[in-house]
Amino acid sequence: FIVDIDSFSHCCRVQDADLSVLSQTMAQCCKNIKETVQMLASRHKDIHGSVSKVGKAIDRNFDAEISAVVAETVWDTPERQKYLSETIVEHLYRQGMLSVAEDLCQESGVVIDMSMKQPFLELNRILEALRMQDLRPALEWAVTNRQRLLDLNSSLEFKLHRLYFISLLSGGIGNQMEALQYARHFQPFASQHQRDIQILMGSLVYLRHGIENSPYRSLLETNQWAEICNIFTRDACALLGLSVESPLSVSFASGCMALPVLMNIKQVIEQRQCSGVWTHKDELPIEIDLGKKCWYHSVFACPILRQQTSESNPPMKLICGHVISRDALNKLTNAGKLKCPYCPMEQNPSHAKQIYF
Ligand SMILES: [Zn+2]
Repeated sequence: FIVDIDSFSHCCRVQDADLSVLSQTMAQCCKNIKETVQMLASRHKDIHGSVSKVGKAIDRNFDAEISAVVAETVWDTPERQKYLSETIVEHLYRQGMLSVAEDLCQESGVVIDMSMKQPFLELNRILEALRMQDLRPALEWAVTNRQRLLDLNSSLEFKLHRLYFISLLSGGIGNQMEALQYARHFQPFASQHQRDIQILMGSLVYLRHGIENSPYRSLLETNQWAEICNIFTRDACALLGLSVESPLSVSFASGCMALPVLMNIKQVIEQRQCSGVWTHKDELPIEIDLGKKCWYHSVFACPILRQQTSESNPPMKLICGHVISRDALNKLTNAGKLKCPYCPMEQNPSHAKQIYF
């Protein structure tokens, strides 16, 4: 019994000690939680202040009424609306949003030819695999289109083989034999990519100790996957005769840049009450710089009429080699004869040749 009491009191002492530690820990935890909650609350207050200002800033700067700068006749025929629907559908196919595109086709009555759809479906399938770091579909595609890619001076196939080789390297010494065997794929590219191949083969020496601890660690950089997606998109689009970016994205981005300028101009025109300035709906009242990214080709401006040439008024090359717009050519023609305003050679205007559009 005595022994029992002893052990009982011992037990109680231990429990007391445990409890006091426990209560201290709990108190500390509560303090921590309180501090964290307070910190979160004060941070949230800061963020909330900014966020609530965003809404007001949008309201202040948002122009709900932009129809003033859009020609009313832009979408007035069913044919033009069909073009718009087709452009949106093409954009959706490009983005891989197939079911949305199908729904839009059904609702808008747009019929898209399978031959137009097919390249986008294939591109998306391959890109999807590349994003999951699966190189095989892209490699198959590149091998099938090898000659056409080489004609475009594309190094896509080599870059895909290179990345496959690197993925074998990152697997460590167990992949040594497979990597050596795979190196055979570099043979057709030996002359063009000699330096790259030397680096890849050199890295094999460090396979046992791990490439990540070697001077070749840059081979394992992860941004190569994003890069290969870009290279694939660029070269595949070039091969299929498609622009890299969807025409809809480009138009939208250009519109976002141009719209504020146009809104300002419209306001100035209205304030000065000279509404006649902007009547030509095919042409903007001022030139808007969209940056180099949006330069696709040079534009010929007629040196006589100082107007940009267009589809309805194309540049014409005279017999003497000077180029003027067709409107200028018609204006300068007198009794079936034209005197070039530059050389000045007399000639038959019907001999002039259209050189663009
Ligand atoms: Zn001339």
